[in-house]
Amino acid sequence: MKISYKDFGIDEEILRFAYEIEEGLSDRFHAFDATAENNSLKVIAAMQKARITQESFMGTTGYGYHDIGRESLEKTYAGAFGTEAALVRPHIASGTHALTVALSGLLRPGDELLSVSGRPYDTLEEVIGIRPSTGSLAEYGVSYREVSLKDEGFFDHEAIREAIREKTRVVAIQRSRGYASRRSLTVKEIKEAIETVKTVRPDLICLIDNCYGEFVEELEPGDVGGDVIVGSLIKNPGGGIARCGGYIAGRADLIERISYRLTSPGLGSEVGSSGDFYLPAFQGFLLSPSVVASAKKAAVFAASVYEHLGFCVRPLPDEVRTDIIEEVELGAPELLIAFCEGIQKGSYVDSHVRPEPSDMPGYDHDVIMAGGTFISGSSIELSADGPLRPPYSVFFQGGLNWPSAKLGILCSVQSLKDKGGISIPR
Ligand SMILES: *Cc1c(COP(=O)(O)O)cnc(C)c1O
Repeated sequence: MKISYKDFGIDEEILRFAYEIEEGLSDRFHAFDATAENNSLKVIAAMQKARITQESFMGTTGYGYHDIGRESLEKTYAGAFGTEAALVRPHIASGTHALTVALSGLLRPGDELLSVSGRPYDTLEEVIGIRPSTGSLAEYGVSYREVSLKDEGFFDHEAIREAIREKTRVVAIQRSRGYASRRSLTVKEIKEAIETVKTVRPDLICLIDNCYGEFVEELEPGDVGGDVIVGSLIKNPGGGIARCGGYIAGRADLIERISYRLTSPGLGSEVGSSGDFYLPAFQGFLLSPSVVASAKKAAVFAASVYEHLGFCVRPLPDEVRTDIIEEVELGAPELLIAFCEGIQKGSYVDSHVRPEPSDMPGYDHDVIMAGGTFISGSSIELSADGPLRPPYSVFFQGGLNWPSAKLGILCSVQSLKDKGGISIPR
């Protein structure tokens, strides 16, 4: 049996239009594969250095003392991310949780947290206490300030220097845009921001929210002076295989401090057992650079397709990438919903269900989320989310492999066409 995208209900004119766009992206796709090759070698080298064996996949019970899987997985992450140490745990429930643990471990009452990449990711507003919330850092006497990015979306080095005060202790940098319409920040730019901070006060701790950034470039924030790097295993580094978890990598003394918050003072990183976590966590980490390459292909393909359809997209298709997120400004709630319905229809799981906008914990607007994924909520798998607020942008990310990503994007175009929201250029 031969099958084609037409069997999924994609019109001939959309296929022709998409084919031309894909042809034009072949150099870009090659470059993404080359980055994946380099990053895969980095993971393999880190695994060899950590002496991975069958025992590394076994898991333990109880306290998890001398858990070889835990120790070798954490060494592997540290090695690949250019840091001295790492915590990689299934008990870290999400990226937000990983960031909360890292911030709580580093900050003490009277300290100040300074964000130099503007307003942080939505869920962190409650963690920090920007929006009042029980258990926030603000409740524990940690103050917060932020320096906005410049209008063009670059670090404001002058303002960063001026914002550092006596009580500043942690400087936070968010690599990816998250749900904001700003530029994502490249590793090179992050390096320059860290240098600015360290020339004012070498003792300040630079913490990088690396969510969605892992393995997109050939360097990571840990390679360029970042002290603590944080992310989620149901995004890039889990490669779509890890079932849950988060990581915190960085300088050994800081990771130790954070470990006393993750488990308990006195216990730190020496405890924590998991059974089935290690094998998929290793497999996913090995595959992650290739999966990230698929996700990058999906992002530039979607960018190019939607730009040709007349929408504003960020980043532009030929811009340098530092994360896997693509924003398409759809401009109307019906189109945002149609886009997400299309993505859902093209998924390999739950293609028969319809996404609907709803209230999500941690977000202050209704959000629509599409994604028929193996791992619930996974956003390294093809997924799309958008807050129901102007300019009705969809944030699109992931793709375990190219055909599944391409199918999802074609279905989103078909869905917009069916709603009368677009006409296909000839
Ligand atoms: C996804 C994300 C987070 C954390 O999100 P979770 O949904 O809690 O995993 C934090 N920062 C950025 C930039 C993100 O993209």
